[in-house]
Amino acid sequence: MKEHNLLLHVCCATCSLHPYFLLRKEYSIKFYFYNPNIHPEKEYIKRLEGVKFVAEKYKIPLIIGKYQEDKWFDLTKSLKDEPEGGKRCNICFKMRLEETSKMAKKENFKFFTTTLSVSPHKNANIINKIGKSIAAKNNLNFYEANFKKKDGFKKTIQKSKELNLYRQNYCGCIYSIR
Ligand code: SF4
Repeated sequence: MKEHNLLLHVCCATCSLHPYFLLRKEYSIKFYFYNPNIHPEKEYIKRLEGVKFVAEKYKIPLIIGKYQEDKWFDLTKSLKDEPEGGKRCNICFKMRLEETSKMAKKENFKFFTTTLSVSPHKNANIINKIGKSIAAKNNLNFYEANFKKKDGFKKTIQKSKELNLYRQNYCGCIYSIR
């Protein structure tokens, strides 16, 4: 029995692997899939199915959030021309981390974090800053990480290949498909 529980926001199955194997040494982990940014819906379902497969394989409890695509579009519509890594992504991270913190509260977790920083396209400093600020407002702890470090990205891809998981070729939202 680990001392602390941690709610891990997972963006997709591949990105969940390295963070999970790292964090489970110290924490009891529960997955939270909340990604209303993913477009179209059939892609959302595909990524969710991958996460369900990983959760079942390693017996990780999984909470599936709502697919609030309209809410995501409302929050980001004025930033549709932003490049990937720009202001729209900060709003997208914030939306997903705020919802993760709400779920952490509801489920009595003291710690939460996200798999997002495993991607070489994501700025871990920005994610950590947003996560810490949300945690402070909610009396929670955000586990700061840059999961791509120490070959983290390489390891997660390697494991994903071993499991023959689906790996998407765009971040998630409609604007990142181009
Ligand atoms: S590019 Fe990725 S992180 Fe940025 S807004 Fe789109 S889905 Fe969100």
